Amino acid sequence: MQRRPGFPAKLPGASGPATPRPSASLPAAVRAVVPTATGTGLDSAAVRARMVQKLVAGGITAAPVLAAMGAVERHRFVDSALGNQAYEDTSLPIGMGQTISKPSIVARMCELALGAELVRTGAGLGRVLEIGTGCGYQAAVLSMLAPEVYTLERVRTLHEKARDNLRPFRLPNLHLIFGDGMLGYAKGAPYGAIIAAAGGDSVPQAWCDQLAVGGRLVAPMAVAAGQQMLLVIDKTVHGLKQNVLEPVHFVPLKSGIA
Ligand code: SAH
Repeated sequence: MQRRPGFPAKLPGASGPATPRPSASLPAAVRAVVPTATGTGLDSAAVRARMVQKLVAGGITAAPVLAAMGAVERHRFVDSALGNQAYEDTSLPIGMGQTISKPSIVARMCELALGAELVRTGAGLGRVLEIGTGCGYQAAVLSMLAPEVYTLERVRTLHEKARDNLRPFRLPNLHLIFGDGMLGYAKGAPYGAIIAAAGGDSVPQAWCDQLAVGGRLVAPMAVAAGQQMLLVIDKTVHGLKQNVLEPVHFVPLKSGIA
């Protein structure tokens, strides 16, 4: 993994009064990066630590993902009226009929992306493309896992909202683009991973074309009326290899801009 230096959000384990003790109940590899929940109420580092512990209990094991989830302040991406629900494992409205994905699915998709052959062989994830910026939360998490992240949003209001949400984080490796994600973003290709946060009926050709050999696409896809499954497509030297994983519930992938 290549963690971008200088991320302003304090990484778990960094010094400071909110730094909790590693928990003995966590696997050793995870203990190194995940703080223990201490305190209650409005201490967001502690609340986030509890969220991370639930992610571990739910089966997330990739230490870089857990560290990123423990660091990015999710409450900054939702309306202040919803702030008290920001660390619950639930999707929340972000305006324009869209939602912020629940933490467990963000972590799951990031972990799947890190399972790309490029990462397994030590080459590193390389550039990442996210389809569906929404409020920008997952993009911020991804920016801690990849050297460059491009994220596309088709709704201008949300694109601008994400820009506002992300400004205080100062993430120079994160590029917000207003446009139709169904076309991908050729300028940043090839990508080590492409992650879609909206589900369509099929995988746009552009996504497969823009994936690097050794790269991985993670996307929700409709398999039947009203039924979506999480899909992983690996691009190998022999072609595309597809795996259908668990059922998921994402907002629809739409074409064009709004
Ligand atoms: N990544 C977000 C989830 C946002 S919800 C998070 O961190 O929680 C999915 C987003 O995908 C919505 O904002 C929706 O407008 C957007 N979307 C849907 N179709 C799209 C397309 N073709 N191109 C870009 N964005 C799209």
